[in-house]
Amino acid sequence: MSILSRFLPKRKPVEIKNNIPKEKTNIKKTFGIYCSKHHGSSDKLCPKCTALLATVMTKMNRCPYGITKPICDRCDRAAICFGAKQAQEFLSIMNSTQKRMFLRHPIMAVKHKLASMGVDYAKYQQAKKIDDKVKEKEKAAKERAKDRKEKK
Ligand code: SF4
Ligand SMILES: [Zn+2]
Repeated sequence: MSILSRFLPKRKPVEIKNNIPKEKTNIKKTFGIYCSKHHGSSDKLCPKCTALLATVMTKMNRCPYGITKPICDRCDRAAICFGAKQAQEFLSIMNSTQKRMFLRHPIMAVKHKLASMGVDYAKYQQAKKIDDKVKEKEKAAKERAKDRKEKK
């Protein structure tokens, strides 16, 4: 460590925010809006939505990704996590209620939208990385084949 480094601003460690409580609130509000529109509930969810919401909340508490988790409606593991049928119901509730969420809870809905765009972007980057690796391997293989031909 040089003497100069003492006077330089210290780098803060990257903080990982726990967004699970906010995501839970968003999901609960979405379920509330959906259930009142489709099942005529007022202050309480109907038994079906209550059961589905309970499953989602339990699974979120046990999420294998911990606080680094993506949002559930963009997660590739949703079908494994909630079960195929429940995942489908969950996704359908989340997607069909998006517009109403924007009207009723605009800030929350915008934040959720940004989070989902973040997940989509991360997925895109990951796919691109894999794709680039495959292309590199193919290129290297072609070059090796070309070298072998030239040696003959
Ligand atoms: S769906 Fe994905 S993000 Fe949601 S709890 Fe399951 S594993 Fe975690
Ligand atoms: Zn309901």
